[in-house]
Amino acid sequence: MHRYLDRELDEHTAKRVARHLEECRRCGLEAAAYTEIKHALGRRTSTVDAAALDRLRAFSDSLASGHALPDADTGVGDG
Ligand SMILES: [Zn+2]
Repeated sequence: MHRYLDRELDEHTAKRVARHLEECRRCGLEAAAYTEIKHALGRRTSTVDAAALDRLRAFSDSLASGHALPDADTGVGDG
């Protein structure tokens, strides 16, 4: 997905991801979070946790494949 955000994906994949983000709110939120991290990275690499990046990488990888993070503990309760 990072590629999608970077506009480096192919039109086909980009549309596929975009559509998913619309349907899947959770992924949409992840995308937003990733955007923030990207900004943080651009400014300073100390503000971002490696764990967060690692998670996002796995997330984007899952998206590219089809969907979705495996059953991982989000830690955030559903509100
Ligand atoms: Zn999703």
